[in-house]
Parts: sequence; structure tokens; C-alpha cells
Amino acid sequence: MFVRKIAPAFLVMFLLTISIQSNANDFELDVISYHLTIEPVIDQRRISGTVIIKFQIDKNADSVVLKSGNLTIDKVTGEHVIGFENSDGNLVIKLSAREKKENELTIDYHGNPTRGLLFDVDRGQAFTVYSTSQWMVCHDSPGDKALFHLNISVPVDKNCIASGELVSEVRKNGKVQYSYQQNYESPTYTYGFAIGNFHQAEEKRGDVVLKYYSQDYSSDQLTTIFQETPMMISFFEEKSGIKYDQSSYSQILIGDYYQEMSGYSTLKDTYGELVLQDSTETNLISHELAHQWWGNRITCKSWNHFWLNEAIATFMSAAYNEYRFGKEVYLANINSYYQVYEAVKNRDKDKPLVFASWSNPSRDDRNLVYFKGAYVLHLLREK
Ligand SMILES: [Zn+2]
Repeated sequence: MFVRKIAPAFLVMFLLTISIQSNANDFELDVISYHLTIEPVIDQRRISGTVIIKFQIDKNADSVVLKSGNLTIDKVTGEHVIGFENSDGNLVIKLSAREKKENELTIDYHGNPTRGLLFDVDRGQAFTVYSTSQWMVCHDSPGDKALFHLNISVPVDKNCIASGELVSEVRKNGKVQYSYQQNYESPTYTYGFAIGNFHQAEEKRGDVVLKYYSQDYSSDQLTTIFQETPMMISFFEEKSGIKYDQSSYSQILIGDYYQEMSGYSTLKDTYGELVLQDSTETNLISHELAHQWWGNRITCKSWNHFWLNEAIATFMSAAYNEYRFGKEVYLANINSYYQVYEAVKNRDKDKPLVFASWSNPSRDDRNLVYFKGAYVLHLLREK
């Protein structure tokens, strides 16, 4: 009855919209590799980049949808590209009929990210944190792992730390272009880089070079702050049964955030002070390092299962404390996790650990994922 009142032209448009939208999302996108060339300009808080994306999608799909943050798309090219639309952080690329699943796209873009890539102009720093699509067009899904190659240009007087193995550096016109290659597939949220003028310290643990960076702490202080790292690696290798298999692991004290990336971690700048005052305050160092196994190597399929990343890293930091400082410290950690969980329960905000949606999590939701999750792992261990 209701449909009869709609003018036929509108009905056709309506049906067409439905069919285009369903086509883009009906087929699973599988990115094989990202090859990114990027230049951040710190004093302008600006980036420009070109990303070449190799991917597979069913040959009947007429478009592919990627995440593009607030980036401006200058150009999209590729054998089967017939057009693109970029709005609300989604880049929809229309594809012509094809015979194979494999595709390759080249996307030129620029922008002034305000999150995902943070600029500290006064300190001459830029570093990525969590939201990769804010600085590189990508399929921003934890379940789609891909290879990553990064070419990044930075001024010659700055340090650069990034995901992957450093394969070359070329100096030209006061800049260095560093190239990094990540040789195994990893989710896009673990890709990143940090640029600044850092003090540094280095030590070896077997074949792995451990590197520590900060603008504020001296080399000697860095060595003290991160002194537990070699033992932590041994502990996580033993518990996971998997060797840390990158040639280096870097830790950078920078900004206001904590995040694990492939092959390195960023830790809040002021956290170093805490560790210098109390050498057992290492939970966050071990938490981020644990993600190199739990989170980065084995990753939740979607953010609804985020507790698998965060609860295990939180639990493993307590487990390391048991190994290093004794059972009482472990139990004190577990008790503090339970206290956080109990406070959420008392506010009637308890939920199952697998979320129906993780698109807009509250502080309580985050606490459940980290601390209820770690407490549940403790209970499972007791069983
Ligand atoms: Zn974490």
C-alpha cells in the first residue's frame, strides 16, 4: 500500500541506492599489501602521501570501500578504476568488470590529521597513535592482515622509528628517505612511525636489538627505565612458545598515550619518571611488549572481541610480575583489576566481554575489556 504512493522514478533511485550499497559490502575485502610513500611536514601539521594497495575481492564486486579519515583524495588510479567518492571518512572506489579477484590501486592524498597522527610543533615531533586511516587510506579492520612497506621522508637532523625492518636510507636535499619493510602480515592499527630529536640507548638480547628513545630522558636514564625488557622478552617467549622474530624492538617515551605497534611501542612521556622512582612500576612496559604476541601476532577478528587483545596483555603483565617479583605482587595486581571491575558492576554497567558493538565504547566498557577480562583469565588459570 505504502509503496504505491512513491513516484516510480524515486522508487528506481531508491532500489539503485540499495543495490550499490549492498554490492560494496557484500564481498569480503582482503588486502594483501600496502606500499606507502609519505612525507609529514611537522610545522604545518600536514602530510602528503601515495599508497599502493594490492587486494583481492570477488570479481562481481563493483566497488571497494576503504577508510580515509579526514584526508583529501587527490587521485585514484588503477586498471579497473572508473571513479571514486570520498565522504564521511569512507572512500568508495568504483570498479569496472574484471576477470580476476586480484586488483591494484594507487591513491594520492594529503591532509592535516588532528588524531591518529599527532604533531607537536614546539618539540618538533610527530607520531602515530591507533587510527591508521587518519594518515593512510586503508581497510581499517583488525581481521584483515597485510604486508606493509613504508617510505618516509624526514629532516636529516631527526630520528625516525617505524614498523618493519629498516631496509634503506637515502639522503637528499636535507632530508632522509627511510624505507621499512614488514615481512609478515599484520593489522593496519599496528602500523606507525614516530619522528623527533631523541636521546637514545641500545642493548642486545640475543639477535634482537633493543632501542630506547626519548627527548627528555638521558641515555643512562633510558637504560634504567627499560632494564626489565630483556627478561620480559624471555618470559613471553617461554609462555607463548613463540620467539620474538623481528630484528629490533623499540620503545619511545613520547606524548600522552600508550600503544603497541609492530616492532615498537610508544609510552606516555611522564611514565618514565614513575619507573625511575620505583623500578617495579613496569606493568605498562610489559603490557605493551606482551601485545607483540597477544594482539599483534594473533589478533581479534573484530573490535567486538577487543578483550582478547587487552585482557591478555593486562593479565600477562601481572604474570610477569609474579615471575619477577613474587606471587604477592601478582595477587595485588589481580585484586586491583577486580576492584575496577567491581566498581563497574556497582554502577550496573557490567556487560559480557564480547561486545555487540564497539563503535562508541564508554570508559566503563574499556575497563571491562581490560580489567574484567584480565580477572576472568585469572579465574580460568585457577581452574
Ligand atoms: Zn593494550
